[in-house]
Amino acid sequence: EPEHGATFNVYLPRYAGPVEDTAPASAAVPNETGDETVLLVEDEATISEPLAESLGRDGFEAEVAATLADAREAIRREPPDLVLLDVMLPDGDGRDLAREIRQGSDVPIVMLTARGEEIDRVLGLELGADDYVVKPFSSRELTARIRAVMRRGRAREQRSPLEIGALRLDPASRTV
Ligand code: CA
Repeated sequence: EPEHGATFNVYLPRYAGPVEDTAPASAAVPNETGDETVLLVEDEATISEPLAESLGRDGFEAEVAATLADAREAIRREPPDLVLLDVMLPDGDGRDLAREIRQGSDVPIVMLTARGEEIDRVLGLELGADDYVVKPFSSRELTARIRAVMRRGRAREQRSPLEIGALRLDPASRTV
């Protein structure tokens, strides 16, 4: 009997139940045991200081950047789990940073906008932002948005197909 290469048996776990039940394998998924990190890009200390405090109370590790330059540096140093991004910053427009971030990352972005700024659903989507809140907002409202955006991000990651060589596993359609 001639041998025709090797035989591989591949066992795939059955998809069962809602996506929340499956343990994410990706390293990009926020750490469930440690605090999730939030980069708060906001130049007004009257907003950023109390907000960072309330985020801390809600179990997030908040880092504040007051300029686009500081934000870029913070992201390079340690990519956050979520970015809260003001629009009007001393050294430029937060929307430009949102586009920059999107070129290399799926990190959730929530825009912090002032009333009258040109941000709506459509523009937010063009920027790649996941959500926005209009100032003044309550920390309770913001935390709810953050949690919702992070949940959606995790679900999206788990549903995206996993490709290993020629093998493509698609949890959404449950096909190989
Ligand atoms: Ca501002």
